[in-house]
Amino acid sequence: MRARPAWHVATVTETRQETPTAARLVLDVPTWPGSVAGAHLDVRLTAPDGYQASRSYSIAASAPAAPGTPGRVVLAVDEVPDGEVSPFLVHDVRVGDQLELHGPLGAFFVWRPGEDDRPVQLVGGGSGVVPLYAMAAAHGAAGDETPFRLLYSVRTPADVYFADELAALAGPSFTLDLVWTRKAPDDRPGPVGRLTRESLAALTVPADQRPRVFVCGSTGFVETVAAWLQELGHAADDIHTERFGGLT
Ligand SMILES: Cc1cc2nc3c(=O)[nH]c(=O)nc-3n(C[C@H](O)[C@H](O)[C@H](O)COP(=O)(O)OP(=O)(O)OC[C@H]3O[C@@H](n4cnc5c(N)ncnc54)[C@H](O)[C@@H]3O)c2cc1C
Repeated sequence: MRARPAWHVATVTETRQETPTAARLVLDVPTWPGSVAGAHLDVRLTAPDGYQASRSYSIAASAPAAPGTPGRVVLAVDEVPDGEVSPFLVHDVRVGDQLELHGPLGAFFVWRPGEDDRPVQLVGGGSGVVPLYAMAAAHGAAGDETPFRLLYSVRTPADVYFADELAALAGPSFTLDLVWTRKAPDDRPGPVGRLTRESLAALTVPADQRPRVFVCGSTGFVETVAAWLQELGHAADDIHTERFGGLT
């Protein structure tokens, strides 16, 4: 048995703009053990004076290290204006930079293929879609036929994370429903506005089908949606939540 290092040293191999306010980071991690869909990790930054700051980020995709091949981790980070860590990750990180990672972390907010054949309902707000995308991608890669449905509340079409990947996953066992809070696509005009209890009820697997529900986003979004889900008859034990912080 090899002991896992407490902190992995990652090298940035790609950065790209994910949305107008977010970046996607692809990292090579020689000691990465792999992760379950939905897990997160901590990123630690160290300033030249030794000051350190760490924040949690969901793992959008990951592959374990193999002999001669480093592991790979994909993150998507939204800039919180005036934040300590996220503006650096979105604007300042360059290919070749090194970051420290701790993880993978999280045992409750995860999905594994074949674990349960109940339908799965994912509900994400903004960057909260990152671990839900990981679950949908794992579901697709495994060829799992458990019905999956993702309800994604997002400002505008340009703000959709993993837009091409999510569109490619849509099929008989994966349904994507988008709620636009500020602007609908020009070619598919539709209602614009925040998610309501009524639209949540209309666009999610009904409670009598006992879906496992995963809700992720800002703290305010998650608490509102989780309360509505219980009012709609979902059992508290069936609702898994991940709060990213922030109120809206
Ligand atoms: C398990 C977990 C997974 C996460 N995964 C992701 C992810 O995949 N992508 C991602 O972009 N973020 C993710 N986050 C949020 C992330 O950890 C940071 O909180 C976020 O990047 C802000 O850090 P910061 O240092 O820039 O801001 P800070 O300096 O920590 O905070 C600045 C101000 O912004 C507020 N704030 C903090 N977080 C948020 C937020 N998320 N929204 C709005 N206001 C906020 C604070 O209360 C404070 O007032 C995750 C959080 C958790 C707990």
